[in-house]
Amino acid sequence: MSIESAPSRTVSHRLCVIVPVFNESAVLSLLMPRLDAALATIAADVRVLFVDDGSTDATPQELARIANNDARVGVLRLARNFGKEAAMTAGLDHADADAVVIIDADLQDPPEVIREFWSQFELGADVAYGVRISRAGESWLKRITAATFYRLIDRMSDTPIPRDTGDFRLLSRRAVDALRQLRERHRFMKGLFGWVGFKQVAVRYHREPRAAGASKFNFWKLWNFALEGITSFSTVPLRIATWIGLMTALVAFIYGTVIIAKTLIYGEPVRGYPSLMSVMLLLGGTQLVALGIIGEYLGRMYEESKRRPLYLISESTNMAPPLPKHV
Ligand code: UDP
Ligand code: MG
Repeated sequence: MSIESAPSRTVSHRLCVIVPVFNESAVLSLLMPRLDAALATIAADVRVLFVDDGSTDATPQELARIANNDARVGVLRLARNFGKEAAMTAGLDHADADAVVIIDADLQDPPEVIREFWSQFELGADVAYGVRISRAGESWLKRITAATFYRLIDRMSDTPIPRDTGDFRLLSRRAVDALRQLRERHRFMKGLFGWVGFKQVAVRYHREPRAAGASKFNFWKLWNFALEGITSFSTVPLRIATWIGLMTALVAFIYGTVIIAKTLIYGEPVRGYPSLMSVMLLLGGTQLVALGIIGEYLGRMYEESKRRPLYLISESTNMAPPLPKHV
């Protein structure tokens, strides 16, 4: 048994807080004081690692200013906007600490909760994840779609994916090491977090409205995100396609038999355009849906097979040499 699986941790530790940022110049000045105050209450050697996901506003200058004033702050800049999941992965790859916290820049995840995560970590948790009791400042449509999505994926996937849980969480070193081995391109992080397992503890908190700026996720992005989650963690859609295919084939077979029998008994009256048309449309439609589902999975296999890097870094400030790579 390693020391890390002991029930509680007492020695002093290093904590790295990863903040993915994309065009967040409006909130950075609000974030730092609150993050600072929250981290001051934690007895650990703390670092903050901003991953600038190819921002096009004043974020880079703002981050450079913060990093110049504070040696505990490191900045990684990605070569372009690779998406939040890639930005988090870059952060996890470069965080050299005993525990890592991932937090949004917009103060929707209250930094004060990190303290609770840290206590759970000291008690032996490998993953302490934030569960939203309330989601202030989000439209009812977003709440309903989010709730439906979490319930759906929970039923469709074998990987435990806790409900109402975002990326806001603490991960122990071994959980991070495990995550770093998962190099798939289609990264549904909530699923990957669940996949690694270990000792996971829920910490409930109230999600606040965005402090400033606008959400980077519109409905199209969220739809793609949902599709990503389902196709990465479930093959249920493929099975549904198979079942629909089998059912229509069965119905078509029965109907065909009836037609043959009728023709043999009563001869062949030439009418029948409506029934012919509806059968054709039904079969054609089902085939296209099934093909589409297969296409979604096939497209993802194609993307994975290229094995491109998940992100590229263009600049780094206050950063130690990178950790050994997992390819
Ligand atoms: N983000 C990012 N890359 C992106 C989109 C978002 O790094 O392409 C960051 C963003 O700066 C923020 C976090 O991910 O720190 C959550 O984004 P946002 O608040 O827009 O999402 P929401 O809370 O509306 O789901
Ligand atoms: Mg937000």
